[in-house]
Order: sequence, then structure tokens, then C-alpha cells
Amino acid sequence: MKPCFSMKINIKQNASKAWLFFLDLIFPIECLGCGREGYWLCGDCFKEVKLKPKQYCLHCKKENDFGQFCPPCQIVYSLNGVWIAALYDGLLINQVIKSLKYRFIGGLADDLSKLLILFVDRLLEQGKVLRSGLARGVDWRSFKRAKNLSLAILNFNDNLVVPVPLSNKRLRWRGFNQAELLAQKIAGKYELAQDNNNLIRTKHKKPQAKLDEAHRLENVKDCFFWQGSHLNKKNIILIDDVVTTGATLNECAKVLKAAGAGEVWGLVAAKG
Ligand SMILES: [Zn+2]
Ligand SMILES: [Zn+2]
Repeated sequence: MKPCFSMKINIKQNASKAWLFFLDLIFPIECLGCGREGYWLCGDCFKEVKLKPKQYCLHCKKENDFGQFCPPCQIVYSLNGVWIAALYDGLLINQVIKSLKYRFIGGLADDLSKLLILFVDRLLEQGKVLRSGLARGVDWRSFKRAKNLSLAILNFNDNLVVPVPLSNKRLRWRGFNQAELLAQKIAGKYELAQDNNNLIRTKHKKPQAKLDEAHRLENVKDCFFWQGSHLNKKNIILIDDVVTTGATLNECAKVLKAAGAGEVWGLVAAKG
């Protein structure tokens, strides 16, 4: 699928840029970590945000290489797995994401996307190392690990990047979709096709952050639909800033797979 850039979207993007520029004027720019002026996250504090060393199955939390759901857990998910970039230290990354979301600091998307890019580079490198190890000779352990190498990693350049959408009401309120800002950077860096227009969030329900686990699932149920053409086994990377229970990502994955998607993976900055 080719990226879709309609006139309507250009207008929307320009309006968002003007809005971001305006907000950057009224908020003084200082580092969220140390207060240094001129940065939202200075170089020193950026280094403090550590990449998550190991991934895990989001459902049972068992550690693994590539964030896939383990087979018994996979049964209840449409999503194939989630890639979580940052080690959640409870402080700085949390602060960065909250500021992006609730203080409307769009500029922070640059820092978060740098983090996502470092993470994806590492993920792809891990995949490469594992494959070249296998090519040199099969040992049982790496064979077992390599079985979990998804098509989305093996054929990374063929993925379609889709940001988790906001409802129109929320988009008007915030002025930009933080997931879309991150998706643009990721798609740009790896030259991946991107689609911002066809995954639609229909209902504006309560913010997930205010709900417990059981209510989160109910809150996002049937909130999304895909209005684009058949996805023809295309593998999708869904981008969002945080994942909590995975309910939102999974609902998106459900409609994407119903529309013909192959694998659907979440890529997020942190676990909230
Ligand atoms: Zn700093
Ligand atoms: Zn599991």
C-alpha cells in the first residue's frame, strides 16, 4: 500500500504545525530532567532513559527476545506482540510522555522518536545476529529463539506504519495526535509506507488512564474501524506512545486483521 497524502491531511498537518509552534512559544523550553534551558530533554538526560534490555509477553510477562505473545497467551490476542522501547523508570520517561500528551509539548515527539529509532535499530540488529548465527550452524537454542523471529522483523522494509488514531473530538482538543508524530519519524527514518487516514476511532470514550484493567477492555471495544482497501497480508506496525494492558492496540489489530492484515505489532515508547 502506498502512503496516502490527501490535500485534507496537508491542511490538517499544517494546522497542527502552527498549533505546535504557538504552544512552543508560550511554554518555556527547559529540560524535563534537569531544567536546562533550550531543550525538552537535553543530551545528558536523554542518555538517562535506558532502552528496555529484554522484551516480554505482555500478557504473562514472561521474558523473551522479540516481545511476542507466548502461544497460550496469543489465543486471546489479535496483536502478535508489542515492542516496548524504554525501560520504565517511573520518572523521566513517564514525565516525557505525560508532557507530550497533556502539556501538548509536540517537540517532545522528536526525543521520543529518537528513542524509538535506537530501539528499532537494536531490534533489527538482534534479528540479524540471530540469523547469521543460524547460518553458521544450527544449535538448538538459537534455532528455538529464531523461530520467534517475526516476518515484521525479517522483512522490516515491507511493513506499513499506522499510528493509533485519536477520535476527532480528542484530536481537536489536543491539536495533534502524538502517535502520528512518532509514526512520521519512524516511517521517515526506515522509509516505510505510512497510513494515517484509514484506521478510524469512532467513539470518544473515557481516557484509558482513568480506568482499571477490566474497564479498559470494555472502553475501547468496537471503537475502531478500517476504511481503506483490503490489506492483502501486509504486516503492520501500530505506533503509540504507551501501552498499558494492550487493549487499545489489540482492538486496532482486530480490525486490521479483519481487513486482511498479516502480522500486527505494537511499537511504543514505554509501558505505562
Ligand atoms: Zn537535562
Ligand atoms: Zn505469555
